[in-house]
Amino acid sequence: MKRLKITVQGQVQGVGFRPHVYRIATELGLTGRVKNNASGVDIEIQGQNIDHFIRRLQAELPPLAEIDTLKHKNILIEKNEKKFTIEKSELGNIKTKIAPDATICDYCLTELFDPHSRYYRYPFINCTHCGPRYTITYHLPYDRSTTSMHSFVMCEHCRSAYQNPLDRRYHAQPIACKKCGPQLSKNISDIANDIRAGKIVALKGLGGYQLICDAKNTNTIQRLRQNKNRATKPFALMVFDLACAKQIVNCTAEDEILLTSRERPIVLLPKKNAVLPDEIAPNLNLLGVMLPYTPIHYLLFDELRESILIVTSANISGSPLIIDDHEAQKKLSSIADVIVSYNRNIVVRVDDSVARIIDKKPVFIRRARGYAPRAITLPYDIPPTLALGGYLKNTICVTRGREAFLSQHIGDLNHAETIQFYRNTISHLLKILDVKPECVAHDYHPDFYSTRIANEFNCPVFSVQHHHAHLAACAAEHGITDNAIGIALDGFGLGEHFESWGGELILYQNTHYQRLGSLKPIMQPGGDRATKEPWRMAASILYELNQSTEIAKRFVKYPQSKLIAELLEKKIHSPLSSSCGRLFDAASALLGICEIANYEAEAAMALESKVTAPFILNSGWTIESNQLNLLPLFEKLLLLNATDGANLFHGTLAAALVEWIGIHAKENNINTVLLSGGCFLNKVLSDCMINQLKARHLTPYFPHQCPPNDGGISLGQAWVAGNKMMEKNKCV
Ligand code: ZN
Ligand code: ZN
Ligand code: FE
Repeated sequence: MKRLKITVQGQVQGVGFRPHVYRIATELGLTGRVKNNASGVDIEIQGQNIDHFIRRLQAELPPLAEIDTLKHKNILIEKNEKKFTIEKSELGNIKTKIAPDATICDYCLTELFDPHSRYYRYPFINCTHCGPRYTITYHLPYDRSTTSMHSFVMCEHCRSAYQNPLDRRYHAQPIACKKCGPQLSKNISDIANDIRAGKIVALKGLGGYQLICDAKNTNTIQRLRQNKNRATKPFALMVFDLACAKQIVNCTAEDEILLTSRERPIVLLPKKNAVLPDEIAPNLNLLGVMLPYTPIHYLLFDELRESILIVTSANISGSPLIIDDHEAQKKLSSIADVIVSYNRNIVVRVDDSVARIIDKKPVFIRRARGYAPRAITLPYDIPPTLALGGYLKNTICVTRGREAFLSQHIGDLNHAETIQFYRNTISHLLKILDVKPECVAHDYHPDFYSTRIANEFNCPVFSVQHHHAHLAACAAEHGITDNAIGIALDGFGLGEHFESWGGELILYQNTHYQRLGSLKPIMQPGGDRATKEPWRMAASILYELNQSTEIAKRFVKYPQSKLIAELLEKKIHSPLSSSCGRLFDAASALLGICEIANYEAEAAMALESKVTAPFILNSGWTIESNQLNLLPLFEKLLLLNATDGANLFHGTLAAALVEWIGIHAKENNINTVLLSGGCFLNKVLSDCMINQLKARHLTPYFPHQCPPNDGGISLGQAWVAGNKMMEKNKCV
């Protein structure tokens, strides 16, 4: 007989942890109490066989709970204690963390289709193990009154479930039923009929409105593209289950796990041929596929079991996902044929997450629903830091001790509404986590909106170079604090002396870095315009290869092609860039795959899609004065067709980069290699490089918890700035 005080930290509030403790204690005939505290849960437990209790506590965790630490000590036995109780905490409910929104759980799914259940076919069924969280929460403590469920008064049934520790809905804040909860504005079978009839339906989802239509109806897809002003950017698909997914894409074991995971991201998977219209993802060999994650999705698939649906964000091109009902009515009527809403507010906008498997592990392209605002664990505590991110695909990051809270994907900061969303996210995340930043981090670029607001926060400000931040994010996630060789490959980041960087070999030294080398800089004719017109980069390569006369011949359809040769010759309006992204553009355009990009990275994705088996041209590169020169590879590409060219480009680029890394790793006597930057979302390149680095007995690290693209740089900025703040504090 003994009494233990157990302190548990982690995601243990608002996820059914206390009832879980209660149930096990009661089953084992133990006495004591459990309550929430400021940083987790306190348990006092008394009786025989307490070891068994601790084992079960961890082994039978509720689906959304996560234990970070569990400490216990012996305390004095309490005589006359008769039972185990859940105590009200002095602090209200959750003080610490808010869980991400979760896919409907198996219990609720069973009830949803059980005619005897009181939740039968109720589109907003949820419990402690599932349902909305982050998207409905105004502020902490997490309680019904602080969520957008506050206006719904619980019926008698819901209230008794809510108050019963043995009920799955004990303290499930969004608890609701047909009688007392939110209602859909149109019934499911009518929505299903609309979809069958080829209509575009705007449906209010978990983190925003979505546009839904039949993915087999070419006319509808063309209409959707026209209405959305979206020429070629791929649409995501939703299918009923894994078996349905396998009819349209090929899945490895890792893909299957990711696709069916509780987070339910959109997963990029290799297309099976000739099943679906090309209009879904033109010129790509991949499809973005997800499985249903809300009760509404499951109710729809109950009617449309064999269907494949396009499910895409409902927004006006360039601006964020629409969450407001009035705005939806106003703005979506020109895109959708039908608008379906419900009467619960979406508080926080969260897009669907997008991921793919690289090196047999999930990698984020967009980290949002299901993951945000889950914390990434830092190697050690740093002062509370706010990192403002960059410009494209922006996120922000707020740290608290060892926890780094990366916001959901916000978007490109080039639009008034996105900037509003960005500002809201900053204040919301600071408020919900109860953090007052002691320092602020931003990018080197003086003109980014994110840089310009850094001084608003009244605390020390640290500027972090873009590629340093990319590598720091990777290092922070993997707990690497020693020196490492880092390679950052992306589209653009401002260099130390206002150069355009994007193919950088870096000696990473935690708060500092040294640029060891770069890809050989190439002119970018027309500046930023070249990012949208890959043929301009092809022209630049032709110029470098002394084949300027080819420019007008190959790209005759572009009126500027004659002028470009002259710009290059005179080196006007053609800034140099060491960007790897631009080399992908050049290769894609030279091979005739993509000359004009309708969306970011289209040229690179279309090029990757042509790869069948990467092949190395051993004479394809030179390394001189710390620059990797790939012009010999490009010279060869001029003679090849698209597939052979794509194979040779990927194989040779990977081999060249690995050799280059190898040289510097040896020189610096370092085995650790950090890989980051948007180009690493290219699976062919990444898998090739990771395998070859391992074969050379180097240890590559790849970002798996934050996106390798600019969606991850706020994490790196926070890590660098927090560390610099510590150094600064030591000096004072
Ligand atoms: Zn549930
Ligand atoms: Zn009810
Ligand atoms: Fe970048």
